[in-house]
Order: sequence, then C-alpha cells, then structure tokens
Amino acid sequence: MKCPFCGDPNTQVTDTRENEDGDVVRRRRRCVKCDKRFTTYERIDLKMPHIVKRNGNRSEFDHAKLAGSMKLALRKRPVTMEAIEAAVDRIEAKLLSLGEQEVPSEKVGELVMKELKKLDKVAYIRFASVYRNFADVDEFSEVIREVQARPRRNRGPQTSAPSEDDLFGN
Ligand SMILES: [Zn+2]
Repeated sequence: MKCPFCGDPNTQVTDTRENEDGDVVRRRRRCVKCDKRFTTYERIDLKMPHIVKRNGNRSEFDHAKLAGSMKLALRKRPVTMEAIEAAVDRIEAKLLSLGEQEVPSEKVGELVMKELKKLDKVAYIRFASVYRNFADVDEFSEVIREVQARPRRNRGPQTSAPSEDDLFGN
C-alpha cells in the first residue's frame, strides 16, 4: 500500500484488527520513509452483477421482478410462494457467487430454467417454450402480463397476438 503522504510504496502494518462481525479488517500502517500513519480497511467486495440484456442495456438485478416472472410461469401450479422465493434466492446467490460485475441476461434465463425444472415440469415447459422467443426474462413477463390483462370476452378468434392459451396450452 502506497503512502498517501509521500507516495512511497513501502509501508509497514503496525496493527491489524477485525471488526466484531469479522467482515472488515482494519490495518494501521506506518510509512517507512516519512513515518506518517494511516489506516486501511479491507472488506469483501461482494456485489450483485449488473444484468446485460441482448440489446446491450444494463439493469440492476431485481429480485421482486424475477419472482414475479417465475410466479407467472408457475401460475395455477402446485408450488408454494415460499418455494418460489427460495428459488429466486438461489438464483441471486448463484449470480453473486460468480463474482462478475456483469452477467448476460441469458445466464439469468438459464438459472430460471434450472430452478423451474426442479420446481415444476409443466411450468418449466411453459417458460422454456415462450422464453426462447424473447430477449430476456423481463420481456417474457411483459408479454405474459399483456396477454393476461386482455379481457377474455373481447378477444376475437382471429387476434394477431398469441393468446394465453397459445402461449401456455390449457
Ligand atoms: Zn510517506
């Protein structure tokens, strides 16, 4: 660690202490050249990576949004909200453990598929068949929402957009 006062690269650690939780290490240092003292802190750099979409846009990982997409895929399936939340937690932990600053959205989609496969085969097939045609998880959930928002009785038999039944089967 370079001395902040004179720029000399030789500094000595005179004291090392961990905080109570053990996640921050505080070091007292002394510059060998100018004898000034300073403190450095060492902590784990664990941040959620940004999600990079296929169009190049970056977005923050959104736990609630991802849980929403998975709930849509699992609609009317015998899977508890707790199980879905736990799956999203695992996806989040997995993304965190990659230690990357950026992760392509395809990676998130892949993790979602893996979790859905474990949770419910029907939901997995629903998601897999629809997801392939969309750029990412966000777009998938937008399309599903749009389809679900459309009132059934106003839906003509010749609509150009795919109906919910077309997307999911029945
Ligand atoms: Zn110095």
